[in-house]
Amino acid sequence: MKALVWHAIGDIRLDEVAEPQIEQPTDAVIRLTASAICGTDLHFIRGTFSDMKEGTILGHEGVGIIEQLGDRVRNFDIGDRVVVCSTLSCGYCPPCRSGNTAQCDNANPNGPQAGTCFFGGPQATGPIDGLQAEKARIPFAANTLVKVPEGVSDEQAILISDIFPTGWFGAEMAGIKRGETVAVFGCGPVGQFAIASALLMGAGRVIAIDPQEDRLAMARRQGAFTVNFEKEDPLEAIKTFTGGMGVDIAIDAVGVDSQHAHHGPAAKQAEQKKEQYRKEVQQVAPENSEHQHVRNGNWVPGDAPTQALEWAIQALKKAGTLSIIGVYPPAAQTFPIGMAMNKNLTMKMGNCNHHAIIPHLLELVRMGAIDPTQVLTQVEPLSDVVSAYESFDKRKPGWIKTELLPSQ
Ligand SMILES: [Zn+2]
Ligand SMILES: [Zn+2]
Repeated sequence: MKALVWHAIGDIRLDEVAEPQIEQPTDAVIRLTASAICGTDLHFIRGTFSDMKEGTILGHEGVGIIEQLGDRVRNFDIGDRVVVCSTLSCGYCPPCRSGNTAQCDNANPNGPQAGTCFFGGPQATGPIDGLQAEKARIPFAANTLVKVPEGVSDEQAILISDIFPTGWFGAEMAGIKRGETVAVFGCGPVGQFAIASALLMGAGRVIAIDPQEDRLAMARRQGAFTVNFEKEDPLEAIKTFTGGMGVDIAIDAVGVDSQHAHHGPAAKQAEQKKEQYRKEVQQVAPENSEHQHVRNGNWVPGDAPTQALEWAIQALKKAGTLSIIGVYPPAAQTFPIGMAMNKNLTMKMGNCNHHAIIPHLLELVRMGAIDPTQVLTQVEPLSDVVSAYESFDKRKPGWIKTELLPSQ
């Protein structure tokens, strides 16, 4: 079968690989009918999340049909249409039973203390072969798969595999109360769903910050106030929209590939921190910090890993809440702790507990409360996956979220 394989930083290929088989009685094998490219995948190719193993199939978002079931998966039938939770979970350990399915004790082959296990990630997360493929083996299938109800399309379900639940998780752990003002840093797909979720939870005002006009336009269509940090100082703009007080809640939906401003008033401040940012990039992306793996302008690491965090902390009101859903690798060790401490901030962060959230979002979509396809901008055959990655990586205008069709 065809699958997208990680070979090295800056080197991914659509390869012919062996079809997956049932290996454990808790496994299932699914034929994928939809997959997708995620910003998280870019970290592995840019080298800002290292420790990938050559030969790992990429991708952690999928919808498919069950073709084979292990003996101990008793809650599904062959032929069921399912959405895959990006993070794997057993469903019976203490973290799973408390809803912290991303911290499952049993899913990660590296042991109970190894942390989140997800598809298509680095060695410390499994590695588990991913979902940008025609078929996939799903370990702990009873909990890692969720049945898609009738009335929810593949296009809708693929956005509920990871990015909608991650945005929801960011808004939910921030504890948004009716009327509150929320700043969302980063208007990629996860940021868009953080905006949507904050509004569904009753936020009074959402301010969206990004350098890309197409993403800001999508945020405005959802009802957010938009700020382009290449044109104005985002902190000044946020002051204007909050009566000088700052926001109640800030959500970082950017993560390690954060960029500083290159134009406008915010670029001047970034210039003074150039050396600090250079060191940070070296820390998180030691093999690509000098752009050793950059090809035709692709796979450039973000140039200011802590910029989004720093702005989020500065934009918050005193005693506000910071919620981090942008991805940071274990190698990231810089955090503006002093600024946060002296404002009495509350900080929440983590990998999305997909299994705990996905059933609720499937129901919201089935009822028509929200249509997630408003964020989907491209549908591409798996045969074009490498060029789709290149366009998404370069943030080509209009390329916000790409669904892949594995059978084409
Ligand atoms: Zn994802
Ligand atoms: Zn578990």
